[in-house]
Parts: sequence; structure tokens; C-alpha cells
Amino acid sequence: MDTIKAIRGMHDITPERSAHWAAVERSLQAALTAYGYQEIRMPIVESTRLFKRSIGEVTDIIEKEMYTFADRNDELMSLRPEGTAGCVRACIERRLLETPQKLWYNGPMFRYERPQKGRQRQFHQLGGEALGFSGVEVEVETLLLNQRFWKALGLQNSVSLQINSIGDSKSRSDFKAALIAFLERHKSALDEDSQRRLDSNPLRILDSKNRDTQALLSDAPKLQDYLSEYSAAHFELLCSRLSDLGIAFECNQHLVRGLDYYNDTVYEWVSDELGAQATVCAGGRYDGLVEQLGGKTTPAFGFAMGLERLLLILESHKFEALQLPRSVDIYFIVAQPEYEARAFAIAEAIRDELPELVLQQQLLSGSIKSQFKKADKCNARFALVLAESEYNDHALTIKNLETGDQKLCALGDTLKDSISSLTALLK
Ligand code: ATP
Ligand code: MG
Repeated sequence: MDTIKAIRGMHDITPERSAHWAAVERSLQAALTAYGYQEIRMPIVESTRLFKRSIGEVTDIIEKEMYTFADRNDELMSLRPEGTAGCVRACIERRLLETPQKLWYNGPMFRYERPQKGRQRQFHQLGGEALGFSGVEVEVETLLLNQRFWKALGLQNSVSLQINSIGDSKSRSDFKAALIAFLERHKSALDEDSQRRLDSNPLRILDSKNRDTQALLSDAPKLQDYLSEYSAAHFELLCSRLSDLGIAFECNQHLVRGLDYYNDTVYEWVSDELGAQATVCAGGRYDGLVEQLGGKTTPAFGFAMGLERLLLILESHKFEALQLPRSVDIYFIVAQPEYEARAFAIAEAIRDELPELVLQQQLLSGSIKSQFKKADKCNARFALVLAESEYNDHALTIKNLETGDQKLCALGDTLKDSISSLTALLK
């Protein structure tokens, strides 16, 4: 029979890797909590209209990357391609915006893209959204938070910060007109993708990876020259605050984001350890989105981290900075199936006393020797042995697998009496 495979671009996270994922997520979540962020969990499926109205009709995501389907009632819905739209929808619907909010989420996102390194069709983003904050302060704090992520993961030398201002929508549309006029005059020199974008999303041409297109762009009008006084001053203030705090950054005039809702500050953390898909974390300001989705005007700033890309970098560092819990602390070797009942009682009593330890019981019969091999293989610190002599003498052998020391521990008439002397040996 043919076997059924996972869908292209969608991956399992198997046990040997899930411990790394969990440790990374714990580390990021601890930092978010320390900055006063609270978790929000949104549905994975939302009305298609939500994404069209927020991300923008003529973006790559909406035009060709969304998983959209009609349900049995012919309602159009989509698997979320990102988290901001759903988060803002939830905030409006649940009336959370009467006071400012700092929220984080973590979960799968879906985009129909060509699968390659750092690009999947189901991938994971951990995002943070700060709603109700207009000044540069929230931008500075968010970048400090991001920087703390890198420190905690030992990546401070692996990522660097690029920032830009894309101004308000008026500056952007003036600039867009000037850019289109310039590029129309040089259309034949543009790569194919950029020619197509000239009509649909000309700003995206700025981050084209094509060399000739990039060369042409050096003579093109500059977005910077079209910023309003407010936007220019806002960006200048941000840059000076970052310098004061010693946060290294580069101003990248070609940095635009692939989603329509951004204004003013946008940023990316990039890594040269990732190859072509270099952006590991990206974000910016989106002051118009809440209103656009039917809420009261609320300034906002947020980011999303691509967890697969983050894990790729950490993997090449062999997860050195991560605190990984042991997969097994105690391996319980039980010589005969008839001893299992007593073994379970002992194992339960140990788990009651030492709930933080991982106690793995054999469950399948096998020779003592082969069970010891398994205990070694999973790197357990202790082996407990319940073999014939222990069973008959109402005792248990505790072997420290790191030192080789071994002790016979008598079990009293009731487990309750002997458990503390037993667990004392397991510390
Ligand atoms: P890119 O230019 O890499 O396509 P994007 O502008 O589409 O990125 P965002 O929508 O800002 O990306 O998403 C934020 C982050 O999520 C990205 O920087 C990246 O780390 C991650 N990401 C986006 N799309 C994918 C994908 N298909 N597979 C894996 N990670 C992704
Ligand atoms: Mg993309």
C-alpha cells in the first residue's frame, strides 16, 4: 500500500527537535513576560475579508500565497498567513483597546510559497503587538526586547538590525508616483518580477534581489525625500534614541515590508548565517490598521519572528546557549513482568516526591543488560533496579550512572516510610 506523506512545505517537528523548540519558546516567552507582554491565542482560520482588508489586495500574500477555501456554508475563509490581522480583529471584537495592550502570540502560519531553506508553507511565528502607543518609546522598547531575545539565545553577534521609515500614506503615494515615473522610463532594464510589480506593488521593487535592478535604483527617487516633517522628525528621534542606548543599526532606505498596513518605522533583524532568506524577525508601526478594521484609531507597533529561521541559526550554533532539560533522569529497570505492580507503586511514590524529574519505566520485558544499555543510551543519571534479589528482599538498587556508585536501599513495610531515604539518594 502507498503511504500517505505530509503536505509539501509542511513539516513535523519530531521529538529530537521538539525539545529545542520548547527551550527556544520558553526563552522568548520569558523575555516577553518580563517586558509586560501577555499572551493572546487567536483562531488559525479567519474570514478571508480580514486579510484582504488589512494586508492589502495587491500584495504577494493576498494575490498568490493564501490558503483560501469556502466552508460548507459557502463562506470564504483563509488559513492565517500572519498574526497581526487576527490579533487586531480580536482586540476590537473583545474591546481590549480601552487601555493600551502589549500582547504576544505564537503559532503556525500558512503561505503557499515555493518551499526552500527558510521558507515553508506551514511555518511558525512568534509575534508581539503593542497597541495604544504612539511615540518612539514603544519602538525603542520593542527593539530592546528583541535584543534581549538575541542575548538570551547567544545570537548577539549573529543578527543585525536594519531600520527605515516608509512615512505616512500621503508621502508614500507621492513617492510611489515619482518612483513609477522613473521606473517606467527604464522599464526594459528591470527584471521580470519587478516589471510585473510596477503596476501592482512598485514599492516592493525596492527590495528586489536582482543586481541590475538594484543598480538602477541607486538613481531612483528616494523615499526619504518624500517624508513629511512629522515622519522625518520621528525617524530622526528614533535613530538618536537607539544610538544613545548603544543599539547598533543600519538605515536601509530600500527596506519596505510586504504588507500594506505599515507606516513610518519598519525594521528587520537579518542574519548572514541564513542564506537567501536572511530576515529572522521583522516588524514596524501600523497606526491605521485598527481603524481600517473598524475600531477606534489606535497607534500600534509590532513584530513577528520566524521560528524556523531562528532554529536554523541556533542549530548551526549547536544550541550552545540553550538550557535543555534532560530527557530522562531516572531509568527504572524491572527484570520480570511479575514485578511491574510493585515497580509502578515505587515509581508513583518517587514521582509524588520528585515531580520535576523524568522517570522512565521500561514497560517492555528485556534482559537487565539490555535495559542498562537503554538507560545509558538515553543519558539517564540514575538506574533503579528491581531484579530477583531486590524483589525477594523487598529492596531496590540505585545506581548512579555517572559515577558508577551503587546502593541497595531497603524498602520498609510501607513505601511511605522508606520513600524519603530513597529519594534522598536521587538528588
Ligand atoms: P520574506 O521577505 O522572507 O518573504 P516576509 O516579508 O514575507 O518575509 P513577514 O510577513 O514580515 O515576512 O514575516 C515575518 C517573518 O516570518 C519573516 O521575517 C520570516 O522570518 C518568517 N517567514 C515569513 N514567511 C515565511 C515562510 N514561508 N517560511 C518560513 N518563515 C517565514
Ligand atoms: Mg514573503
